[in-house]
Amino acid sequence: MKYFLIFGPPGAGKGTQSTLIAKRYNFRHISTGELLRNEIARKSEIGKIAAELIEKGEFVPDQLVIGIVREEICNPETQAKGYILDGFPRNTVQAIALDTMLEEFGYKVDAVLSLETTDSVNIKRIQHRANIEGRKDDADFETIRTRIKTYHKVTEPLISYYKNQSKYMPVNGDQSIEENFVDICKIIDKTLDE
Ligand code: ADP
Repeated sequence: MKYFLIFGPPGAGKGTQSTLIAKRYNFRHISTGELLRNEIARKSEIGKIAAELIEKGEFVPDQLVIGIVREEICNPETQAKGYILDGFPRNTVQAIALDTMLEEFGYKVDAVLSLETTDSVNIKRIQHRANIEGRKDDADFETIRTRIKTYHKVTEPLISYYKNQSKYMPVNGDQSIEENFVDICKIIDKTLDE
């Protein structure tokens, strides 16, 4: 089983690329944002905690997110050939928790596919998505700014975490969806051959 992470700021296109990757490689796509939005829709206890935080552009507590991911990725029933994790980990605590849980099952993170984008492009993409998906956290400019600021402060440091493990694989995320996907597939193909 291979484990890939898709990494990048809000609006970089992680969800879009993950959907394409999951389809081409028969990977399971795990988006923590999506899972949390499902909890909100179900009005579960987790959903109640998450709703307000997400709307303000703040993180949901680590232990909640880690618990959700754990249930999803350690599922021996899956027919998938691998996993693409989208939106997780988002800070060092989550990255260490992921390494620990994968190690427990005899696996590891195989590669980090990083969409390197500029903030102006991210903001444009989020504003475009706001009209299509109607997410509350995409509708308010202050919330978008909070999310991008938090990315630079607490998520971006993970770049060195994964560079130190020689797993960091950057692509120029400002390109078109198709161009990004071509670059990403080259990295996945190479990783699968190793
Ligand atoms: P984006 O990448 O555009 O921010 P996501 O769907 O990945 O969109 O995440 C939406 C929101 O869900 C985040 O702003 C955050 O509030 C919450 N969230 C998602 N993943 C995590 C995580 N790993 N840790 C904490 N909060 C998370």
